[in-house]
Amino acid sequence: MKGRLASACIAAGRDVDSVTLLAVSKMQGPEAVRDAAAAGQRAFGENYVQEALDKMAALRDLPLQWHLIGPLQSNKTRVVAEAFDWVHSVDRLKIAQRLADQRPAHLAPLQLCLQVNVSGEASKSGVAPAELPALAAAVAALPSDRVRLRGLMAIPAPADTAAARRAPHRLLHELADALRAQGLPLDTLSMGMSDDLEDAVAEGSTLVRVGTAIFGRRG
Ligand SMILES: *Cc1c(COP(=O)(O)O)cnc(C)c1O
Repeated sequence: MKGRLASACIAAGRDVDSVTLLAVSKMQGPEAVRDAAAAGQRAFGENYVQEALDKMAALRDLPLQWHLIGPLQSNKTRVVAEAFDWVHSVDRLKIAQRLADQRPAHLAPLQLCLQVNVSGEASKSGVAPAELPALAAAVAALPSDRVRLRGLMAIPAPADTAAARRAPHRLLHELADALRAQGLPLDTLSMGMSDDLEDAVAEGSTLVRVGTAIFGRRG
C-alpha cells in the first residue's frame, strides 16, 4: 500500500511525504491492527464508536492514533471526545460544540475535519457546500485548547470514469482554498479511499483513508 501511495504522489508531481495514510480498520479485529502497527502503521480509522473503543482497549499497549471517520450522534460525543485523536465527520455545530465542551483538558486538542456533501443527493451526510463557510467559521471559533479545525473530508459517490471521480475531489480542494482565503488555517484534505486514492492525490488530498486495499475485504 505504501508503494501504491508513493506512486500516486509521484504521478501527481507531489512529495511522497505529503499524504498521510490512514488505515481504516473497521470490522477488522485487533490482531489485524496489531500486525499493521508492527509494519509501521500508526494512524487508524474507525466508523463505529463502540467497536473502536473495544479495539483501543485491546491495543492500549501500542502508541496508536485513532480517527473517527463514521457518523457521530450527539449521545456519543463524550466517549469520542475522551478516546479519539481526530474526528473527520463533523457536519453540524452542535456536535463540534459538544466535543469542545467534553474534550478533557489534560489531552491535546481534538483534531477536526468538516464532512462536506460533495455529491449532492447521492449522499446524505455532510454539510452542503453553501453552508460550509458559516459552519467552518463557527467551529474555528471554538476553544482551541479543546478542538482544532484542521480541514475538510468527503466521501464522493462512486463513479466510473477518472474525470467523474476527480470532480468532487477538486470541489473539496476549492472549498478548502476558499476557507483559507477567509483566514482559516486549514492543512488537511481527507479524501481518497481504496478505489479512488490516485484521483484524490492528483487533486490535492493530504490524507487518504484506506481499508480494503490494506486489510482485504471486510467480513
Ligand atoms: C470504510 C471507509 C473507508 C475505507 O474504504 P475502503 O474502500 O475499504 O478503502 C474510508 N472512509 C470512510 C468514511 C469509510 O467509511
